Formats: sequence, C-alpha cells, structure tokens
Amino acid sequence: MIIGTFRRLAALLVAAALALLAVGFSATPAAAAGKVVYITFDDGPSAVYTPKVLKVLSQYGVHATFFEVGQQIAAHPSLTSQVYHAGHSVQNHTWSHPDLRNLSSSQFTYQVTATDRQIRARTGYRTCCLRPPYGAVNATVRARAAALGKKLALWTVDPRDWSRPGAAAISYRVLSHVRPGSVVLLHDGGGDRSQTVAALSGILKTLKARGYTFATWAR
Ligand SMILES: [Zn+2]
Repeated sequence: MIIGTFRRLAALLVAAALALLAVGFSATPAAAAGKVVYITFDDGPSAVYTPKVLKVLSQYGVHATFFEVGQQIAAHPSLTSQVYHAGHSVQNHTWSHPDLRNLSSSQFTYQVTATDRQIRARTGYRTCCLRPPYGAVNATVRARAAALGKKLALWTVDPRDWSRPGAAAISYRVLSHVRPGSVVLLHDGGGDRSQTVAALSGILKTLKARGYTFATWAR
C-alpha cells in the first residue's frame, strides 16, 4: 500500500519534471499539424528593409514573427506598429543585442524588460518569447529567461543571410533544409538586407507550391 503510494507519487513527480522541461526548453512554437513553417526576421525594425519585407509578405499573404531589438524600436516606433497591424507577431530580441551569457542579472533583466515595454507600447501585448542574440544560451540564460516568463525561441534553419552569400544561395539554403515545423531565421535589420529581400519572394512562392502553410508565435 505504502509502496504503491510512493510509486504513484514518483510517477507524478516525473510527469511534472517532464512538463517543466517541455516548457523550459521550448525552442519552437507549439507543434501544429501538417506542413507548417515559421518564417522569422531578426534585428529590425529597419527603415530601409522592414517595409520591403512587409510588402513581400503581404503579396503572398504570409504572416511571420519579427524578433525586434529594443533600441531599434525606439528609433523607429511606427515601423513596429506597422509590423503588428499587418498581422505579424513581434517578439523580444533584447535591447542592444548582447551575448546574454555575459550579463549580470540586472543587465539581463533590463535587456528584456526595456524591450518588452517598447513592444507593449506599439502592440498592447506582452511578448511570450525571447530570441537570444547569436543563439547564445547556457543554464543561467535559460533560468533567467524562465524567471521573466519568457520561452527561448531559437531556430532550425539558418541560411546565414546576414553574411550576404547572394540571394540564390539564401533561397537554396532555406529550401533545401525546410521540413514541416521548421523555424527559418532571416534578418530585416542589422545591415544590408537587400539579398534577403530579393530571396524572400522565391522562398515563399516555392514553399507555397510545396503545400506549406505559415504560422507565427502567439501575439
Ligand atoms: Zn540578432
């Protein structure tokens, strides 16, 4: 009798631990059935490239997730509103794009909460997700993000568009690696993104032809 109770208790504890792990390490949005792909843009908003990205997304009726940098939002607040009102999700990519592993606890908190305030002022919601710059995470980053109620949002397909390998290379790298549930990392800010803009139309057209639909992180 007592052993049976202990076993049930142990099973409950294991289930609870697994549930916590699932939440804590959630690198991708909730799995959706079928051929879904998540298109994401980092480091914006950019006065030059974000409007061009929005135009292409609109042409294909695709919604994406924009992981924006707080100081960029402060510099271009109307662009973040424009991204949000076009139906896209805006999420947190820190205030000034540091490697989060190198920060004190208070610096980490500032990077996240100051950016959240900017996003909330333009969208009315509190972000669910934090994308760590450079994908740089460790146990401390995970714990601090969780303490602030953030899920870490990484990616599964990285065409390294920021290195400007040419629009054809960006397109090929994405299209040859996308699988159902993939999270594609692209950039609308942080530098010259003309190659990303040039590649985007072909990427969306081909993914649609392959039967993919597009989803975003929760707004
Ligand atoms: Zn970034």
